[in-house]
Order: sequence, then C-alpha cells, then structure tokens
Amino acid sequence: MTDRRPDAQEPAAPVPASAVPRFEVEADVVVVGQGAAGGCASIEAARAGAEVLVLERMSLGGGATALSTGLTYFGGGTRIQRACGFDDPVEAMHAYVRLAAGSQPDEERVRLYCEGSVEHFEWFCSLGVEWNASFHDDKVTHPLSADGLLYTGNEEVWPFCEQARPAPRGHKPAREGEAGGYLMEAVLRATAASGARVVNDCHVQRLVQAPDRRVVGVAARLDGREVFVGARRGVILAAGGFVMNRDMLARHAPALLHINTPTGTPGDDGRGIRMGMGAGGEAENMGEGLLLNSWYPPSSHLMGILVDARGQRFVNEDASIGRTSDAIVAKADARAWLVVDDAIYGQTQARHRIAAVEESFEALEAALGIPDGALVRTIEAYNRAAEKGEDPLFHKARPWLRPLQAPPYAALDCSPARSVWGGFTLGGLRTRATGEVQDPDGREIPGLYAAGRNAAGLCREGRSYASGLSIGDASFFGRLAGRSAAGVPHG
Ligand SMILES: Cc1cc2nc3c(=O)[nH]c(=O)nc-3n(C[C@H](O)[C@H](O)[C@H](O)COP(=O)(O)OP(=O)(O)OC[C@H]3O[C@@H](n4cnc5c(N)ncnc54)[C@H](O)[C@@H]3O)c2cc1C
Repeated sequence: MTDRRPDAQEPAAPVPASAVPRFEVEADVVVVGQGAAGGCASIEAARAGAEVLVLERMSLGGGATALSTGLTYFGGGTRIQRACGFDDPVEAMHAYVRLAAGSQPDEERVRLYCEGSVEHFEWFCSLGVEWNASFHDDKVTHPLSADGLLYTGNEEVWPFCEQARPAPRGHKPAREGEAGGYLMEAVLRATAASGARVVNDCHVQRLVQAPDRRVVGVAARLDGREVFVGARRGVILAAGGFVMNRDMLARHAPALLHINTPTGTPGDDGRGIRMGMGAGGEAENMGEGLLLNSWYPPSSHLMGILVDARGQRFVNEDASIGRTSDAIVAKADARAWLVVDDAIYGQTQARHRIAAVEESFEALEAALGIPDGALVRTIEAYNRAAEKGEDPLFHKARPWLRPLQAPPYAALDCSPARSVWGGFTLGGLRTRATGEVQDPDGREIPGLYAAGRNAAGLCREGRSYASGLSIGDASFFGRLAGRSAAGVPHG
C-alpha cells in the first residue's frame, strides 16, 4: 500500500511535450482524482461549459472523502444552524476560522471560505445532500448519530472562546454512521449529470509540460500501458495527501510518523504533490498535519486528566482531539496517560489499553513508574481547583471540572507506541485561493491547478484543526479551481 520506491519522496519530473508522440484523448480540463476536491472541481468546470475529463486511479471515485464521516464545516448562518437556534454571523465564523487555520492563516482563503459558506452549503443541498436540523449536544470525535449539527473543533475551548464567539459549525449529512460515502454519491451523480467524463482505473503518473512551463497534459497508466492525455486549458491536481508515503513523512513531517493507522486511502501517496513539484510548483507547510488519538468519547473522559511521564498535565483536556494529540507528541514527548476515576471511566471507541488500575493515587503513580509524589501532587492540585470550578493552569471549561475522587483510579495509555493514532497531512502545493499552482517566487505555473490535500489549503495546523475543515476546504476550493481552469473570471 505504501509507496516505498527509492524515488518516492522526490519531485516527479514531467514529460517534455516534445517527447509525447500524440495525445490519445484531449479535453479542456483534465482532473486528476475524484474525491471531494476533484469531484467538485469537475462539476463546476463542466457547468461552466468546459469539456472535462476526470482520471481516477481507483475503480470507483470517492477517495478518502467517501470513507470519511462526512463532517463538513459550514457557518455564517446556514439553515441548519438557524433551525437549531444558533446565531452565527459571518464575522463570528471568520474570527474562528482564522484561528482554526493556524498561526499563519491565509487571509484570502479564510475570507472567501467564510463569506461563501452559506452558498456552499446550499450548493451541496442542490446536489441532493440532506442534513437533519438537530443538534448533537455531546462532545464526540466521531459522531455516529444522524444529527446534523455539532461542535467539532475548539470553538468553546480556551483560548479560542475568548477570541471568537462560539457556534457549532460541523454539519453531518443525514445518515447514521459514516456519511462520507453518501456525500460522495451525490458528488459522483452530479459529475455524471454535468457531462464530465470519468475514466477509472487510470493512474496518473506525470505531467506533460511545454518549454514555456505550461502544463498541457498528463501521462497515465491505463490497461497496463502508458497513455498521454492532453489538457487544452488546464490540469487540476486533486489526488489527496501523502500520509501513506512514509518516506515523504520522514523527510517532510517526521512528527506524523507517530501515525500507525493512517486516515486515508492508498491514493494518499503524495504522487500529485510530487508531480506538481516536478513541474516547478512549490510545496509548502509540508511539516504539518493532523494527529488523532481519540481518548474520548465517552465525553466523561474530559473530566479526567492527561499526564506525561513526569506526572504533569500539559494541555486543557477539553480541547479538540487534534490539539490534545499534538500536545501528547509536542509537549509530552509522545508518552501520556489519561487518568480517570471509576465515576467517569468508559471504554473508548479506539479501545485504549488500561496501563494500571489502583485504589490510590500513590499506587497508580508507582504502577506507572512516575517519580515519587509527582502524580499525587498533580492530582491533588487539580482536585482542589476543580472543587471550586477552576483550572488555573490550563483553563479547562467548568462543565468538565470535577475532582477525581471515586476509586479505583485507572490510567489509559494514550502513547502512539501503544494506542491507535490516526491522522493525515496538511501540506501540499502552494496555490492561490483560486487554485493556480505557484512556484517558489509566487509565479503561476500556467495550466496547473491544485485543490484538496494536494494543496496547502485553508487549515494549516492540526493543533487548531476543526473536523469538517478538510472536506470543507477540498470541496469549496475545488469548486474555485474548477472554475479557474475552465476560464471563468472570479468576481
Ligand atoms: C476515515 C476518515 C474519516 C474522515 N472524516 C472526516 C470528516 O468527517 N470531515 C473532514 O473534513 N475530513 C475527514 N477526513 C479527511 C477527509 O476525508 C480528507 O482529508 C479529504 O476528504 C480529502 O479530499 P481530497 O479530495 O483532497 O482527497 P480524496 O477524497 O482522497 O480524493 C483523492 C482522489 O484521488 C485519487 N488519486 C490519487 N492518486 C491518483 C493518481 N495518481 N491518479 C489518479 N487518481 C488518483 C484517489 O484514488 C482519490 O479518489 C476523514 C478521512 C478518513 C479516511
């Protein structure tokens, strides 16, 4: 599954146009990959009048998006938000998404995404996707109910809640369990209806580039042979991220090597990014990604404390799972336990291993090999403050503050070496918000566009990520890339 060839981390050199005997097929716009980004790009390009050809490596499109929960980040006053009683002005969404985008947000992307969010939601509705007007009032990482709205990031969490007015913006399509397949069925249906042609089992491997740098086509493996496909107006790279390529992770994002259960498909091998780099595109933000160790639900676990090997807390436990997982690696040196008491313990969906169960804090500390007295002091200080509804160290919110005082006490092992760690990459090709791939000097590579995990997109840091921002980013900016490649001027 993993791309382990010796060159698997190098840019994929393009085929010079002069070396292409002839293009067997041509289209105005060639889209590489049919997940959220490629699917939405192809619909928009075709609706704009372009002849569109989608080349998809798998026998059926959908990509990681089809495997996903389908959470999509919309706000600014969608019908579902209003029906559930939430007021979410565009300015409030903007303030939050700017924080969620990371420490160096792309202001243009943030603005476009927030201002266009209600329209984008209605666009999905027009494809036939349904959403229930019900609010899921629990802290979960992986909602299984068919409720349509929930908090999926750090909206109510310190310090975010002090800088942006909270509102739930994670929208889940009206299906129980994983809803990404249902979402992508609608995208695939709309692609077919738009007139775009799709070729499956077609593995795109290189771009074709003219001497003036214009990308004029692709080289792909189809039916066991190489075929050249011409693109009169442009190629859109929408082939996913690189979480499956351990060599690329080692080179660009070593912290993501802690991922032992990648959140992706075999298509997330970085090929699209490497093709873009080979044509002169700059890759940026390559060290960043989302890490996921789901030590809740049950949400009662948020009343527990995460501690490192020195018995110290290091994060507010009510933060999003991307934020706590990042902290486990970055602040706790990838070794951490969740300490709970009998009143709040429950089996996690990821089935965390119980490292120790003891009747006293002292015995728990000894069983975990934490230096004398350190864990006991941490829990006693936490309990004293929690009794008063306070967390002076990390500002965990009041609803999750409750002293640990119901023995036995347990420690769940959250370390990457001993529990399930998912995640995916957030780095990719540098593009304008409208999809044009740029070189290191910011100049466009003519005829080349990218979106979704192939691009360094809207959210650039896992520690601030909110679930739904990946499908939201891929679909929203995929649509823009589709219009750009088709030659539609952006208003
Ligand atoms: C289990 C799971 C749950 C998730 N839950 C959520 C969620 O609820 N909300 C959220 O926002 N995100 C979620 N994500 C992440 C999210 O689904 C993805 O990051 C996002 O959908 C990526 O979209 P994309 O279009 O860039 O890539 P994809 O949807 O993966 O599409 C890429 C497509 O390109 C094809 N491809 C790859 N290489 C080639 C090639 N060389 N030639 C031709 N085709 C190629 C692939 O086969 C694939 O179909 C989840 C992911 C998983 C796996």
